[in-house]
Amino acid sequence: MQAREIATFLDDNYNTFKNNQLFGRYITLQHIQPLIDNLPSEFQIAKAGESFQHRKINSITIGAGSKKILLWSQMHGNESTGTKAIFDLFNFLLNDTSGLATTILKNCTITVIPMLNPDGSEVYTRVDSQGIDLNRDAVDQKAPESKLLNKTLREINPHFCFNLHDQRTIFSVGNENLPTTLSFLAPSEDEDRTLTEGRKITMSVIVKMNEVLQHLIPNQIGRYTDEFYPTATGDNFQKAGYNTILVEAGHFPNDYDREITRKYNFIALVSGIYGIATSEKLTNYKPYFQIPNNEKNYLDIIYKNVFIESEKITIEVGILFKEELINGNITFTPFIEKTGDLSGYNANTIIKHNNRFVPTRKHLDVFIEK
Ligand SMILES: [Zn+2]
Repeated sequence: MQAREIATFLDDNYNTFKNNQLFGRYITLQHIQPLIDNLPSEFQIAKAGESFQHRKINSITIGAGSKKILLWSQMHGNESTGTKAIFDLFNFLLNDTSGLATTILKNCTITVIPMLNPDGSEVYTRVDSQGIDLNRDAVDQKAPESKLLNKTLREINPHFCFNLHDQRTIFSVGNENLPTTLSFLAPSEDEDRTLTEGRKITMSVIVKMNEVLQHLIPNQIGRYTDEFYPTATGDNFQKAGYNTILVEAGHFPNDYDREITRKYNFIALVSGIYGIATSEKLTNYKPYFQIPNNEKNYLDIIYKNVFIESEKITIEVGILFKEELINGNITFTPFIEKTGDLSGYNANTIIKHNNRFVPTRKHLDVFIEK
C-alpha cells in the first residue's frame, strides 16, 4: 500500500481499532493490566521484571517475522499517549483485514513494554519513584527500570526500537497557529552528530512515517534537535547499533486529553512498522531533513490588548498550563509564561480584548484566577 492509501485507510477506520477502555492523560498499571491479561493467545505475555516499588513491568510479543522490533512507552510516567496508541496497535494487529497487519506480522516480531515506569505513572510524574529520569539513566543504569530495559534490549537484539514519549504544548512548526502534534528524532551517536549508516536507516523509517502523516496533518509534524545527549536512552541505543526512533506525541488543537493525537501516534506506529516490514533496504533518509524543526513558540492561551495603566503600555499575556494529578484527576492549572509582544507566538486559544485595563503588572494575576 502507498502512503496516501495507508493514511486514508487508517484515518477512516481508526474507530474500529481504537481501544475505548483507555482514555485521557492519566494511565496507570491498573488501567492496562486487565487489558494485557485479556489479550488473546496470538500475544505472548511475560513479566519482564518489576519497578523499584515492585509494580509489574509487562512485556508483550506478537508476530513471526525475522525483523525484530522493540517498543516501549511511559518511560516517563506522565507521558501516556504512546501507551494508548500501543493498545490501538494491538487491536489493529488482531482485527485488520486490509493486509497491512498480515504483512507486518509475517515480516516482524514485535515486543512491547507498554509501561516501563509504572511507579511514575501511578503518581503522574516524569521520573520514577526514586526520582530518576529513566531517559537520562542509560549509562549509569541506577534504576531497576533502566536495567530491565537494557536487559530486554540485549536479549531481543532488535533491528529497530521505538521510544515513545509525550512533549509539552509549547511547540509549533509553522505560522498556521497550529501546534506540533507529532515530533520525531533519529538520535545522534556523538557530539558531532555524525550521519552514521545506522542513523540513516533510523531517519528512513521516520521518512516512511512522515510520508503517511503529511497526508493528514501536514503542518503539525516536527523534528527534534539532534544535539547529542550522552546519558539519554535513544542516543546510547543508537550508538550501540540499535536503530532507535524517538516519537514525541504533542498537542492537537483543543485536544487536552490527547485522544486525537493518539490516533496520529497510532498511524505513525503502523506506518513505521509497515515500512520496516516491506523494505529490503531503508536508504531514503534525505527527506528527513525536510521535516521542519520544532520551535518553542506555542502557548495555551494568549490575551491580546492588555493595557497596564501604571506603565501606559499595551502588552500581551501568554499562559501555559501546568498539569497536576489532583484527587485522581489531571488538572490544568494556568500560569503566566510570558508577557510583552508575543507576535512570534501561537496559542491554542487567542483572546482579543478591546482594551482590557489592569492598574499595574501585579494585577495580571486576574488572567490565572479561576
Ligand atoms: Zn519523555
